[in-house]
Amino acid sequence: MPNAFLQTPVEYLKGVGPLRAELLKKEMGIFTYGDLLTLYPFRYVDRTKFHAIKDISPDLPYVQLRGRFVRVKTIGEKRAKRLSASFVDSSGEIELVWFQGIKWIADKFKGDKEYIVFGKPQLYNNKWNIAHPEVEEVSEENTRLANALQPVYPSTDKMKEKALDTKGIARLMKPLVALLDGKIEEIIPPAVMSQMKLMDREEAMRQIHLPSAPERLQKAEFRLKFEELFFLQLKLLKVKAQHHVEYKGYVFPTVGEKFNEFYKEHLPFPLTNAQKRVIKEIRHDMGSGKHMNRLLQGDVGSGKTLVALMSMLIAIDNGFQAGIMAPTEILAHQHYETISEFVKNMDVKVGLFTGSTKNAQRRELHTLLENGELDILIGTHALIEDGVKFKNIGLMVIDEQHRFGVEQRSRLWQKNIQPPHILVMTATPIPRTLAMTLYSDLDVSVIDELPPGRKPVKTLHRYDSHRLEVFGFIRDQIKLGRQVYVVYPLIKESETMDYKDLQDGYESISRAFPLPEYKVSILHGQMKAEDKDFEMRRFVKGETQIMVATTVIEVGVNVPNASIMIVESAERFGLSQLHQLRGRVGRGAEQSYCVLMSSHKLSSDAKLRLQTMVRTSDGFEIADVDLRLRGPGDITGTQQSGILNLKIADITQDAQILTYARNAASSLLKDDPDLQKTENVPARTHQTELQKDRATWSRIS
Ligand code: ADP
Ligand code: MG
Repeated sequence: MPNAFLQTPVEYLKGVGPLRAELLKKEMGIFTYGDLLTLYPFRYVDRTKFHAIKDISPDLPYVQLRGRFVRVKTIGEKRAKRLSASFVDSSGEIELVWFQGIKWIADKFKGDKEYIVFGKPQLYNNKWNIAHPEVEEVSEENTRLANALQPVYPSTDKMKEKALDTKGIARLMKPLVALLDGKIEEIIPPAVMSQMKLMDREEAMRQIHLPSAPERLQKAEFRLKFEELFFLQLKLLKVKAQHHVEYKGYVFPTVGEKFNEFYKEHLPFPLTNAQKRVIKEIRHDMGSGKHMNRLLQGDVGSGKTLVALMSMLIAIDNGFQAGIMAPTEILAHQHYETISEFVKNMDVKVGLFTGSTKNAQRRELHTLLENGELDILIGTHALIEDGVKFKNIGLMVIDEQHRFGVEQRSRLWQKNIQPPHILVMTATPIPRTLAMTLYSDLDVSVIDELPPGRKPVKTLHRYDSHRLEVFGFIRDQIKLGRQVYVVYPLIKESETMDYKDLQDGYESISRAFPLPEYKVSILHGQMKAEDKDFEMRRFVKGETQIMVATTVIEVGVNVPNASIMIVESAERFGLSQLHQLRGRVGRGAEQSYCVLMSSHKLSSDAKLRLQTMVRTSDGFEIADVDLRLRGPGDITGTQQSGILNLKIADITQDAQILTYARNAASSLLKDDPDLQKTENVPARTHQTELQKDRATWSRIS
């Protein structure tokens, strides 16, 4: 039985008339008491603590001030217009600025009243200011609440017009919380409650809105975050379990002839321990009778290709075919060459299939594929386009997964009645917490070790004004026989401005590095595949020393002699992109360098990105910073952000709770897979309720 109290329409609440009810629905999706109760405060303000203006320092993320306005004036014209106010307390003065809502704000502040100001101080021209602070008049109500932690709620402009700002919402919460009184039953199974020492649900709902003490609030937050993540994990684990029931996997019992031949006679270097471990995991999966759906994470240069090949040899040994799908033609070519080279002395037939494969060749490939003569097919997404039929594909490797959506993954399966085992390889270090949340339908293997002898890439940040110096460095390195990438940003392939940057860059590089001494290649996404290929080959063979390119070279390209990566306008790149780009160098025996060029004007986020790159080369650390800066929705693309509709938990900050929740959910399901035991029924009911809200689930897996 769903909880009737929580289902009560919100207009029944005191203080909510039809008008406000409509607003709550439209603006916030709040229809019921339950919805309103899960409109959680995003912060609490301790009204007892104020900072003195003179004590503002860089280590205070937020400050709360109490004082008066002395001057309010509008500065600048049109788009540069802003409202500037001087705010003083007994210790000093600070500027408050607004760029929006100027008219509305300007008339609000009265010189004779006292105000509380809350915001994030920043240094501008060596002076502190606060942009768009929260301002509120010191009133009786505030003073009365002086000892309380005051919740701050999200709101919208339209809601604020009807007095549903943070205070207005707080005023609604009070009578609502008073109604709770015994109406909220527990939904987390008792064993989990006591193991995790959780606050009960009703008390947590009360405390989150009207905290009685900081410790109680903390327990309430923990409980509600745990609850949210626990039910998320229950759901995801069920999806995964169902997957294993619905899709049986081919069983590859033997590790046979080809695998052993390769391992004993053709392995070009000893495997790293991490490679060995991962191959073992894959072998186990493919021998188990379950359908393998595995994510292989390994930082750039960690040797994923070799793992892919050896996994494919297992499929071949068991009488099946295998495929690799790459996100770009360049990469498909490169895989084709690498793999062909690895198996050149073996009886393994490898084919390449991309969008630019000629018709005659296509037909030949089709025939070879269908009669089973071709063992390994390497290609782009052209592989999943209609017409490509395998005789019996047993394993599909998807390289650089972040370019392949979930949808494309599932289209692969329709090729067969029984889906091939899937190995998704990615160098984009998906933060562990995010992987656990989003890809829990995948098992995860990690290559956490680079092949021996790699020298870490030295990373430097240089301002544009030092370009000549950087050019000098490039010259010295070319004299030593090295090659250089110079990469320009290309945010959207169609932006002509970006191409202008690239063309200008190409010209200035060509001028600084003139023929005949230097030869410069250029590569971008709008070139024909053949031309791209031609340029890439010249560079690979060492015929050109400098490769001017857009991010088309971001993923996977392997030219060990290229040891310098110059990234132009590095402030315009995201962290994971920078990390990928840096991964293009450091592949040979020589010391490699990555130089991040930027202008002097840097936002604080951009600064943090560049600093992070200079500080660390650990892909996971970089991914975590990235996640913090961008938020999870952005990282995985809008397609998947919907399922992370978390109301209180934050997977970047609550990784620990997520782990607890996952473990608890996992052992619960082991004990009672369908949640049929009496003590688990409330959890099951709640799960069903949640599912009604979230049609989006079906998109995973
Ligand atoms: P990525 O994981 O980025 O795809 P690659 O598979 O391209 O990495 O491998 C990077 C380089 O390391 C290649 O030149 C490859 O031949 C080499 N390599 C792979 N495994 C080993 C190993 N065990 N020992 C030495 N070099 C290796
Ligand atoms: Mg690779």
